[in-house]
Amino acid sequence: MSFHSFIPPRRTLMGPGPSDVYPNVLAALSRPTLGHLDPLFIGMMDELKALLQYAFQTRNPMTLAISAPGSAGMEACFVNLVEPGEKVIVCRNGVFGGRMLENIKRLGAEAVVVDTPWGRAVELDKVKAAISAHPDAKFLAFVHAETSTGALSDAKALCAMAREAGMLSIVDAVTSLGGVPVKVDEWGIDAIYSGSQKCLSCVPGLSPVSFSPAAVEKIKNRRSPVQSWFLDQSLVMGYWEGAGKRSYHHTAPVNALYALHEALVQLHSEGLEQSWQRHRQMHERLAEGLGALGLDFIVPQGERLPQLNTVTIPQGIDDAAVRATLLNDYNLEIGAGLGDFAGKAWRIGLMGYGARRENVTLCLAALAEVLN
Ligand code: PLP
Repeated sequence: MSFHSFIPPRRTLMGPGPSDVYPNVLAALSRPTLGHLDPLFIGMMDELKALLQYAFQTRNPMTLAISAPGSAGMEACFVNLVEPGEKVIVCRNGVFGGRMLENIKRLGAEAVVVDTPWGRAVELDKVKAAISAHPDAKFLAFVHAETSTGALSDAKALCAMAREAGMLSIVDAVTSLGGVPVKVDEWGIDAIYSGSQKCLSCVPGLSPVSFSPAAVEKIKNRRSPVQSWFLDQSLVMGYWEGAGKRSYHHTAPVNALYALHEALVQLHSEGLEQSWQRHRQMHERLAEGLGALGLDFIVPQGERLPQLNTVTIPQGIDDAAVRATLLNDYNLEIGAGLGDFAGKAWRIGLMGYGARRENVTLCLAALAEVLN
């Protein structure tokens, strides 16, 4: 048996992530690897932290990128903050709220689940009722942008409720960061995690996270050590703490961090507001075209994510055959339905570098040809 280099084709990625990576980010990945304690690399890491603070709109000193995907960011938030026996109100309106619940259960903590139908934003009244029924709950956890359904929840209102009740908020911003407003300090978010592969258009495998001073205080006052050595933030911070103080924790994914730095330089030079606006404009363009093709959105207007458009698969259409034709004949990937929506919905992503006019045009033209 002989082996050869793997040379993938150039696809247009319009699924739920990973999204198309910026060419500059791919170029950054192939730059020479430095030692992770090299002063030049450390200089870049200081900038990376400042760029992450910009993306999250926060001054939180504990802002960093976990060397693993979004699920590890999720786990880092739960495992560091929540101790066995503590009560967490968790909102579930799709797959990823369910994954949060799984984390809570595995920690031996107590979960109060607030269910909202799939395809809808988290229902604020239900959360309010759960908070008043459980004054002993210490945390409110929710997914800002539910990638399994395309619904956007009101993170500002949810965090305000948590704060008023003296609870800490844990927010999943894997799909929201860079695509819609995420304002950590203004909204009073206590723990937040994201992913490199969605609206940041970086390579997959890194999870930006940020912890508020109140969250850091909670971590410092734990009665028990964090169960996970790798994700224990008090240890990881020894490496991320800043000039002159960095010490070895694990070997940093050096080239992937160049890539994240480059993706965030891109976001910073475009500007957050402009990036949010671009996602919104491309969504409107796509929505108009999908409507003309007779495709209906699952999520009601006003609760839709611009970066993830979920439409019902029309009666009589073979889901898998359409997606295979798009992939094979047009080099275009759109997403299948996930969980309850498997076989019922398509998820069309407009994330980061993918939120471009040419992608919208390609997707609409290809769908028109394949569906007719
Ligand atoms: N949370 C949300 C909302 C997601 O969309 C995803 C991935 O799609 C995750 C968490 C998990 O991230 P990852 O697949 O990078 O582990």
